[in-house]
Amino acid sequence: MAPASGPVVTVNVAATRVGTEALGPGVRSALWVQGCPFDCAGCMSADWIPFREARRATPGELAAELLADPRVTGLTFSGGEPMEQAAGLAEVARLAREIRDVSLICFTGHRLTALRARPPSPGVHDLLAAVDVLIDGRYVAALDDGRGLRGSSNQRIHHLTGRLAGSGYDFGDRPRSAEIAVTGREALLIGVPPAGLLAAFDTAVDSVRGRTSPGRELDNDER
Ligand code: SF4
Repeated sequence: MAPASGPVVTVNVAATRVGTEALGPGVRSALWVQGCPFDCAGCMSADWIPFREARRATPGELAAELLADPRVTGLTFSGGEPMEQAAGLAEVARLAREIRDVSLICFTGHRLTALRARPPSPGVHDLLAAVDVLIDGRYVAALDDGRGLRGSSNQRIHHLTGRLAGSGYDFGDRPRSAEIAVTGREALLIGVPPAGLLAAFDTAVDSVRGRTSPGRELDNDER
């Protein structure tokens, strides 16, 4: 992939997590973007749906941040909707791979065929070219079977490269796991949670201070 030309594209970041084992094989870093054109009922990232300014960062800053932990062997992009910020994320992937040859998993509410036929933002083809595993389709609560690294069974696992196909990681049917990270006054639920965990997480956070999203505030302050 060629380096981006012209003005530096920034990424509107909802959250990051350096070093997690809940979003794919091995130790990975996750980047969630702010803004999604969909409004799936039961979305666990509801606070990250609005297209509002969150944290702006350059791809270079994000690549360095996400790979700060030397154990990290992969990146996972989620949101929000990564394909709305595809150019910036493709550049994050390119720059990260200049540091370390990381694998890349990406979630999207779009179908792969639609992305290829009608890319919703510049850079979609570049991002798809960088992705090893794409998990596509909108979340449908009625089809949430509690299995795999996808929210519901209508979502599909696309191995766009063979890189993670032989990893032994069963994307579609593995038992779910999640992590809860508390940093300062924010609690972050990482991963595709097993049944009941999201509600329990919300109840626990609400008992401290009520805000709801995977990045929950534990006090009154707004981000
Ligand atoms: S596509 Fe994902 S982030 Fe967007 S509303 Fe649906 S579940 Fe939420």
